[in-house]
Amino acid sequence: MPAPLRLRGIAASPGFAEGPIFPISETIGRYEQKNGVEAEREALRRAIAEASSRLEGLMSRATDESAEMLEFQLAMLADDALTEPAYAAISGGAAADIAWSRALDAECAGYESSDNEYFRARAADLRDIRDQVLASLSGSLREVAPTGSIVYGHDITPTRFLETDWSQGGGIALTAGSAASHVAMLARARGVPMVVALPAPKSVPAGIALLDGLEGGFVVSPSVSDLERYRVRAQKLSEVRREAAKYLAAAAATCDGTAVRVLVNVADPSDVKAIDIAWCDGVGLMRTEFLYGRQGGLPDEETQYQAYRRVLEWAGDKPVTIRTVDAGGDKPVAGLTVEETNPFLGLRGIRLTLARPEIFRVQVRALLRASNHGSLKVMFPMVSDPEEYDRAAAFFHSEAASLSKEGAPHSVPPLGIMVEVPAVAITPERFAHAAFFSIGSNDLTQYVMAAARDNPSVAGLNDVRNPAVLKLVGGLATFGASNAVPVSLCGDAGGDPSAIPDLLQAGLRDLSVAPAQLAMAKAAIAGVSL
Ligand code: PEP
Ligand code: MG
Repeated sequence: MPAPLRLRGIAASPGFAEGPIFPISETIGRYEQKNGVEAEREALRRAIAEASSRLEGLMSRATDESAEMLEFQLAMLADDALTEPAYAAISGGAAADIAWSRALDAECAGYESSDNEYFRARAADLRDIRDQVLASLSGSLREVAPTGSIVYGHDITPTRFLETDWSQGGGIALTAGSAASHVAMLARARGVPMVVALPAPKSVPAGIALLDGLEGGFVVSPSVSDLERYRVRAQKLSEVRREAAKYLAAAAATCDGTAVRVLVNVADPSDVKAIDIAWCDGVGLMRTEFLYGRQGGLPDEETQYQAYRRVLEWAGDKPVTIRTVDAGGDKPVAGLTVEETNPFLGLRGIRLTLARPEIFRVQVRALLRASNHGSLKVMFPMVSDPEEYDRAAAFFHSEAASLSKEGAPHSVPPLGIMVEVPAVAITPERFAHAAFFSIGSNDLTQYVMAAARDNPSVAGLNDVRNPAVLKLVGGLATFGASNAVPVSLCGDAGGDPSAIPDLLQAGLRDLSVAPAQLAMAKAAIAGVSL
């Protein structure tokens, strides 16, 4: 028996898996060069068509969260800007596979070398298209992982994820990868355990392995005691989930009867389809960057208005807090954000929006119009100075005046701020004229602890439960209670059962959580005695 190899990476999707390792082979068969430029062009055309029809096949079975990515990949394959350089290289004498690889590698390189996790994560979608077409060119079919296996490799393409049958368990262990990738999002939505950023051993591991998607563990050739420990933890997790499910439909309260409002965080308007509005107290954060990150440029007023209206109508009379675009930092948007040496400390959130008034104005108008369709609140991200709030709020009043002149129905919603910069948390009194505060614990923690939210080397420091962060959270809750400023929290900590007791003890009574965490958050709240 080989000795157990215990590795630690970053947890990207919770859950446990035990099974044989299935190494992802990225070797693609050899392409046989054709005779002449026209034949090469035709081979590439056919391979692109074949890859597109495979994607269309996946699309027909796709759920919401995968359809958008497949749509993006299909659009890329149909985009002349991507394919033309390859055809040009063929005309210059290159073989179809070389021409295609070079064109796609050039596109991917920019994304992959980015300091930014979001861009690196998008590169996987492009690599996926590259390999799909190369596989078609060489006539090689990729092997599908047997059900229940732990798929292991450098990274996994979204289409490979979609082709795999996860119904009998299994998991994903990657030496690269990212918790912000499409695959990670898909894995969380489907409940497939996933660990990324594992150290790469000298040789590809083989045999049986255990995967811990809660703490980021991966054990190859586990010992009997490893197995026992994992099984106990896996059993515990499924009991916790079963137990938590009982809380989903009920109003949240601590075990000694204090009511806690639990709202959900959404991004794409289609996110709400899977949620029953009766399970939550509204939307505590609608991120709008995702509308901006789509193909075809920045979203126009009508597109935004329809997206906001859809969520507001879904929520009925429950509140929906929409955040103005928070581009920059970990959320770059092509055509909006700028290259910076340290994007987390740069022109992001409200700073960027105020620097681009022509873009902000479009969003403000869409929000003002949507406000008539429900109980809207709007908040500004990354506020660090009261003047930013004042300037952003002024846009709402001046655009409301324009809409009045145009005779367009609208209303000005309550305008609040995200508290995610320590400057605000330390001096909340300077911002008391905002209608409400929503604590962005993801950013607040990284800025208080000087530990980036996307850097595994400092993940241990990036902890909302650090006394310094909790002291600020407690201070905000106290300030809010004594100054009639509602204070909620919408960072990931709000849905983290291990952080919830401290957040409630700090005085918070409104948490907005990822939809997948609703039941677990309510169960964790029920376990707290105040
Ligand atoms: C936060 O920072 O906690 C937050 C909710 O905003 P985002 O994660 O989108 O930066
Ligand atoms: Mg934030």
